[in-house]
Amino acid sequence: MCSCGSPLLARYDLEEVRAGLTKEDVAARAPDLWRYHELLPVRAPENVVTLGEGMTPLLALPAYGRELGVDDLLMKDEGLIPTGTFKARGAAVGVSRAYEVGVRKIAMPTNGNAGSAWATYAARAGMEALIAMPIAAPEICRREVKVVGAELKLIDGLIGDAGAWVREELAKRDGYQDVSTLKEPYRIEGKKTMGLEIAEQLGWKLPDVILYPTGGGVGLIGIWKALAELASLGWVEGPMPRLVAVQATGCAPIVQAWEKGLPESEAWVDAQTVAFGITVPKALGDFLVLQAIAETDGCAVAVDDDEILAAQRRVAELEGSFICPEGAANFAAVRRLRESGWIKAGEQVVALNTGTGLKYPETVPL
Ligand SMILES: *Cc1c(COP(=O)(O)O)cnc(C)c1O
Repeated sequence: MCSCGSPLLARYDLEEVRAGLTKEDVAARAPDLWRYHELLPVRAPENVVTLGEGMTPLLALPAYGRELGVDDLLMKDEGLIPTGTFKARGAAVGVSRAYEVGVRKIAMPTNGNAGSAWATYAARAGMEALIAMPIAAPEICRREVKVVGAELKLIDGLIGDAGAWVREELAKRDGYQDVSTLKEPYRIEGKKTMGLEIAEQLGWKLPDVILYPTGGGVGLIGIWKALAELASLGWVEGPMPRLVAVQATGCAPIVQAWEKGLPESEAWVDAQTVAFGITVPKALGDFLVLQAIAETDGCAVAVDDDEILAAQRRVAELEGSFICPEGAANFAAVRRLRESGWIKAGEQVVALNTGTGLKYPETVPL
């Protein structure tokens, strides 16, 4: 983080990358996110901490798409990645780069999935991890943190309270790096690889619309950054996909700011939704999310928990895929945006499923 309080972003010499790298070079590499290493911050291959993350499927959803009136509906399925959510991307790149610059102990507040991912990659790197998560976070995330031997602190509050605890605790401890969202610039570099993969998987042609379930918004900012870098390399052309930030009505600060035309969000009071991964009352990078959706002619949409759970059930019934509630929020938003005409007939729509439904067994009544 900059001393002014704003996030820092990594930049690359894209002229040099352009001169030395071709799409064919990338195509010949192993199917993981390190195939884009020229656009990632880790310098030496021996510092890469990997569990084989990346190159998740970009699946057509023909039956569900037909039901919604979106014939070309695709799902980027992050359920098939180590730790079961796309948080593995941020953790793989963030932990690798932290290791490279000499960090051996990390600490972070989390809603659950980021904590389990960072604890897992820290274990792989031989690093210590201190993870603070709300007491209401899913039990599975606690167990994941425990099994890899990380230190777990349960907080009676929300993610912001966990963040405050970490800051206080680190004042008393030596040698820890605070790797909270956007306080270090490398997590977003890992998350941006979703954008690189979508472009490559579509033959370096961009879709019309990309939807993202937005908590801190790091994935959405990352995808925007990735597509801008690909445009600078001359690897993609034409208009950017319209980026859609999807939130739950129980915690929709970015949607509220968007609707009011504000440059940043106001902290949401009494945040609560079944899609706990997007329960972020005030995101540090909110202004970047709002900028990304404005500059791409996108929008921000809130859907309620009933719509989320109905979409989760319908995708499973029609397509055989058990997605997470955050991912399901995207599909509820596709339905709304198609009904309102914002998504037009014939448009190609990519929705991120950010994790596997297997991490959320309680979302399905028996
Ligand atoms: C963290 C998380 C999100 C939100 O990601 P941000 O990049 O912080 O907006 C969405 N879905 C799942 C499953 C998550 O764990």
